[in-house]
Amino acid sequence: MRRHPWVFSGAVASVQGDPGVGETVEIQDAKGNFLARGAYSPYSQIRLRVWTWEPDRVIGLDFFRERLGQALAARQDAISPEMTDAYRLVHAESDGLPGLIADRYGDVLVVQFLSSGAEYWRETLAGQLQEQTGARHVYERSDVDVRVLEGLEGRTGAIFGGEPADRLTITENGLRFWIDYRKGHKTGFYLDQRANRARLRDLANGRRTLDCFAYTGGFTVSALAGGASSVTAIDSSAEALALARENVALNALPGEQVEWVVGDVFQTLRKYRDQDRSFDLIVLDPPKFAPTVSQAQRAARGYKDINLLAFKLLSPGGLLVTFSCSGGVSEDLFQKIVAGAALDAGVNALLLERLHQGMDHPVALNFPEGAYLKGFVLRVS
Ligand code: SAH
Repeated sequence: MRRHPWVFSGAVASVQGDPGVGETVEIQDAKGNFLARGAYSPYSQIRLRVWTWEPDRVIGLDFFRERLGQALAARQDAISPEMTDAYRLVHAESDGLPGLIADRYGDVLVVQFLSSGAEYWRETLAGQLQEQTGARHVYERSDVDVRVLEGLEGRTGAIFGGEPADRLTITENGLRFWIDYRKGHKTGFYLDQRANRARLRDLANGRRTLDCFAYTGGFTVSALAGGASSVTAIDSSAEALALARENVALNALPGEQVEWVVGDVFQTLRKYRDQDRSFDLIVLDPPKFAPTVSQAQRAARGYKDINLLAFKLLSPGGLLVTFSCSGGVSEDLFQKIVAGAALDAGVNALLLERLHQGMDHPVALNFPEGAYLKGFVLRVS
């Protein structure tokens, strides 16, 4: 047994007793020997999520106190507190806490309980998180589709400390951002891109930059801070771009150098191609086209399309920073898709650098699914 934390329904021969949703059960092999202790999810294909492989571990307050302590300690190696006060504290399965996401935005924690087991221990987990971090507020954003698979309803609202202010400001890599933790994507911000935003800042100097899928401006602000000569920021959400505009102002960056485009990236890139526009630096950070392997084919077409168009829009010596956050598309496959796009666009491209999710989104070696974000820095000649 390679200690993967998921047991699928097909692997369960029988259930003894009548365990409730999220209750802790013992998992035994065919001979009745102890394998693990985990949370029971009667409605999910992932029938069990393992808490521990140690027969003597009791699942309760002390267990969660220790696991959370380990997760928080790992962040101390990953984050420089003078530069960054927003980061992921708990990355679910990868931190040995299946179904629990906890993100820190200054003194506000935003949490998600994504599985029956995490939901079952909600009070304990939220209480321990607050206690160990000293956060002023703990706010829940369990309004995610995966809860449906677990037979759980969505839930949002304050858990500790009452309602935080409507919007928060955080510092990331020394830059400041407004966060809409109530309605924004995920828990409000794509924290997994922090290191890559810092990288972009290093690459942007003097470059005419195109930020595709700009959301609230993480890459746009970083490019401006790095001296980009102009930024064109595209997103289909006017609301997200409105916050992005505020984020440029919050950092006293030259807003007049930004062209804001509310629209579809696929259509807009085609239009730019027909207009013979060109850029020196292009960022492609699309939403998840393929959450699972079964959607990989369709997703591949989407990735190929936008990467092909981006290659055509790049000036000689231009840089493409291209991402996929699809769990169903491996890094290897993504590289093949991007290579195919370069070929069809008729450009030669060098892979200068590989990018991944930041250190606060670690990958447990027994849970390779935890590695989802991959990106390449490419230079066209
Ligand atoms: N780069 C951002 C995160 C991007 S998230 C950051 O660093 O914060 C993906 C974004 O793509 C979302 O803001 C969503 O509104 C936008 N989006 C999704 N489909 C789109 C499309 N077809 N055209 C333009 N924007 C799209």
